[in-house]
Amino acid sequence: MKLANYLAGKWVEGAGPGIELVDPVTGEELARISSEGADLEAALDFARTQGGPRLRQLSYTERAEMLGKIAEVLTANRDEYFRLSLLNLGATQADASFDVDGALYTMKYYAKIGRALGEGKMLKEGASVPLSKTGVFGAQHFLTPAKGVAVFINAFNFPAWGFCEKAAPALLSGVPICVKPASPTAWLAHKMVNDVVEAGILPSGAISLVCGSARHLLDHLREEDIISFTGSADTAARVRSHANVLGRSVRVNIEADSINSAILGPDGAPATELFDLLVKEVLKEMTLKAGQKCTTIRRVFAPRQTLKAFGEAVSSRLSSMKVGNPRNPEVKVGPVVNKAQQSACLEGLKKLESECSVVFGGDAQFQPVDADRQKSAFVEPTLLASNNGLASKYVHDVEVFGPVATLIAYDSSKDLIPMVRRGNGSLVASIFSNDTAFLREVVLGVGDLHGRMMAVDSSVGNQYTGHGNVVPSCLHGGPGRAGGGEELAGLRALLLYHRRFVVQGPVNCIKDLSEFCADANLLYA
Ligand code: NAP
Repeated sequence: MKLANYLAGKWVEGAGPGIELVDPVTGEELARISSEGADLEAALDFARTQGGPRLRQLSYTERAEMLGKIAEVLTANRDEYFRLSLLNLGATQADASFDVDGALYTMKYYAKIGRALGEGKMLKEGASVPLSKTGVFGAQHFLTPAKGVAVFINAFNFPAWGFCEKAAPALLSGVPICVKPASPTAWLAHKMVNDVVEAGILPSGAISLVCGSARHLLDHLREEDIISFTGSADTAARVRSHANVLGRSVRVNIEADSINSAILGPDGAPATELFDLLVKEVLKEMTLKAGQKCTTIRRVFAPRQTLKAFGEAVSSRLSSMKVGNPRNPEVKVGPVVNKAQQSACLEGLKKLESECSVVFGGDAQFQPVDADRQKSAFVEPTLLASNNGLASKYVHDVEVFGPVATLIAYDSSKDLIPMVRRGNGSLVASIFSNDTAFLREVVLGVGDLHGRMMAVDSSVGNQYTGHGNVVPSCLHGGPGRAGGGEELAGLRALLLYHRRFVVQGPVNCIKDLSEFCADANLLYA
């Protein structure tokens, strides 16, 4: 079976043998994809000239209603998305839910909040600016939807959520989308796009799908287009520095990899509530989606005197979790996505082991439940420990994209803060402590290098959203190594798909333009 591309309003099969999509548990081929021979330039042009104008004929409210219909269609097909997640990602029910239900929730969320923007065609930003003595000449800032295409280049680990979290704000803005899922797991995104197309909700040209290599896609982007990229820092650098992207100043948003931190405060002694909460959180982060989340905890900082007890508590729980074929109901941890990712994980693990001790796991030859070790792509959940984080290199630098975390001892905020900062920019850090002064010091000390900081104390108990959970109402993204991008954060996400411009002119003309506008302050409500 070869999955087709959807370009210029038509399904087009790519040429050649294509790229193989496999079941990571059995190693069997599931489908093939290819974008070879597809006319990507014409597809982008069709989206700009047909999809964009049709979307922008509608108001924000009408587009929000369209998102609501998309959410309904996707919800009706949820079971099939779980089935494909199992086949192509080796996802347990919990893993599939994290991606698929996260996607549905995000689409519904934007359908709901988008209605508040009303009937306008663009957004009026801030107050008018007087520029003349008599007041006849003035200025007004506006945000107008971009008249190009939003190209989404996505990572393999979130085929459903990655599509929806980008599609919702772009379509709500009135910008047509071109989805390029990561090749190894493209099937689920393909199915979702197919369902949306079949439902006839979007005008022709509003959605395109490239299944397979991006090929020369970036060569054909223009000044009015937007790239929203999620993936590794290496590919991000290639996208950012692409000659056409640079030459035309194509707007680029990058969500890249991240060495995220969780911190147990100095008051987090063994058997305290916060100690237990963080043990649970580390366990969840290591095992959910087999650790293949960009927000997963990679480094756990614990007071030196507590490190050993913390490692024992996580290890004892890890030892009771079955790792293997998710078709077995007792299995809690699935595989990584393919053999290439398994090799990358084992390579990264070797680097970490060169400067850390192994507290749990680490056996490259371990036997997964109900799966052939040779054919499948499992990585044993592995907990490492470092007593000398300041002198370590790899623990702050190597992202093992699998079920792996490293405990790092700290003595005080004086060594903790510089060590956390060695991540060089991360998506998220969480702090578990009842010590308000410590919380404040750490937030002030590392907040500038993080997109999100999550603090948990006893007043919160277990009512927090989760270290690795990205909620659409809050910012997702991070500076530096994490890519420097910003996504979600409620209606702020629309900023990426709008252009700011100022009109200086007769106040009557400005008043006339303003009548077509919603208030940009709504983005920050
Ligand atoms: P990747 O290898 O960097 O690929 C990401 C995407 O870029 C894929 O769709 C890939 O297509 C495409 N691509 C590769 N080379 C390209 C080029 N020259 N021009 C245009 N597109 C190109 O990343 P991955 O292995 O799929 O994902 C894992 C990484 O993503 C991890 O490092 C993880 O931390 C990060 N991630 C970050 C976030 C976040 O929100 N910050 C979320 C999820 C994952 P092909 O698959 O066809 O090569």
